[in-house]
Amino acid sequence: MIFSEKHELVRKLARDFAEKELTKELLDQIEETGEYPKELLDKMAKAGFFGIKTPAKYGGQGSDFLSYAITLEELGRVSAVTDIWVSAPNSLGGGPLMLAGTEEQLQKYLVPIAKGEKIMAFGLTEPNAGSDAGGTTSTAVRDGDYWILNGRKTFITTAPVADWTIIYAKTDRSQKGSRGISAFIMDMKLPGVSVGKNEHKMGIIGCPTSDIIMEDVRVHKDDMLGEEGKGFSNAMKTLDIGRIGVAAMSVGVAQGALDEAVKYAKERKQFGRRIADFQAISFMLADMATKLQAAKELVYRAAQLKDANSPESGQAASMAKYFAAEICNEIAAKAVQIHGGYGFIKEYKVERIYRDCRVFTIFEGTSQVQQMVIAGNLLK
Ligand SMILES: Cc1cc2nc3c(=O)[nH]c(=O)nc-3n(C[C@H](O)[C@H](O)[C@H](O)COP(=O)(O)OP(=O)(O)OC[C@H]3O[C@@H](n4cnc5c(N)ncnc54)[C@H](O)[C@@H]3O)c2cc1C
Repeated sequence: MIFSEKHELVRKLARDFAEKELTKELLDQIEETGEYPKELLDKMAKAGFFGIKTPAKYGGQGSDFLSYAITLEELGRVSAVTDIWVSAPNSLGGGPLMLAGTEEQLQKYLVPIAKGEKIMAFGLTEPNAGSDAGGTTSTAVRDGDYWILNGRKTFITTAPVADWTIIYAKTDRSQKGSRGISAFIMDMKLPGVSVGKNEHKMGIIGCPTSDIIMEDVRVHKDDMLGEEGKGFSNAMKTLDIGRIGVAAMSVGVAQGALDEAVKYAKERKQFGRRIADFQAISFMLADMATKLQAAKELVYRAAQLKDANSPESGQAASMAKYFAAEICNEIAAKAVQIHGGYGFIKEYKVERIYRDCRVFTIFEGTSQVQQMVIAGNLLK
């Protein structure tokens, strides 16, 4: 794809930020401590990364999906966990609000999220409702001006540090499956809210993930998000859009892996020659680069279709997420292979990349769920 000047500038700004701020020392420190520095989050807020797609009147940049995808691609090329911090407010945190928030809710919640002053988590998954998110068993029962929430959400990104979480809970238990689910904006400081242990993850270390437990939490009726009973549709539409983000981070992280593999193949000598001169290695690189380019085209297409409000954008987002996440894992594995034993050692970037990208085929709809969506659209 040939980009406009505006999008080339977006790429340059994100790349400059990544190369200047996301140093190897800092990324090693994040891996060791599990903490993402507050000063770095502040710099990202100042750069406008937390409200790329949020309209300017709600504190954001008012930019398009393609700009969002390019930004994630460039930041992810250097640091996958940075992408998680950027996608959270733009996608799963801000997305449900932008789809269904009242003017009052947008001013109260979306503005501080877009400015990076507050954190909104997204609470859909439960211990027994993952891919089958419609199987939500958390409940919300009306009591005067309040809804009483009970249940448990699992694997929630940023939960331990979030100010608020969008909670999807069953408000009408007489309805079967995904019907009768409503969305709520829950203040994490309300009595009855607690978080589980900070999960020890394989990758994307530095962005915490935990369960959220709700025990008779009283959420005011004004904090219901969207219409009663329409929560599942809000969650699905949010994920539809969010998939473009995961696809974009996948191609960015894959580019980082390919860069490292090319550099190493040119440096490393065995049998008196650069390993890049062995056809087995150079053909592997050719394969990686070609598949990566194909994945990028799918991502840019999905973003452009979304910007054009095309009815094809959901299908395009699933295709992009499915292919880019799978290809990213393939490229990262090959990058480790090209590094030989050194690829298994933490000092080398590909070791972290290999672990970080493993989650891309899992969260925001597994690869199998994307296949179900794609096939479902084909066969309807
Ligand atoms: C690091 C991390 C962060 C996350 N952040 C969030 C978050 O912020 N908010 C949130 O709500 N959730 C979050 N999740 C949860 C994530 O979205 C789920 O893990 C994911 O949807 C899969 O659900 P599950 O883990 O229960 O797996 P399951 O649904 O149990 O799936 C297990 C396996 O079965 C396959 N499978 C399931 N159903 C079918 C089917 N019908 N056909 C074929 N195969 C099938 C799956 O593809 C998978 O391979 C996060 C997860 C992780 C790991």
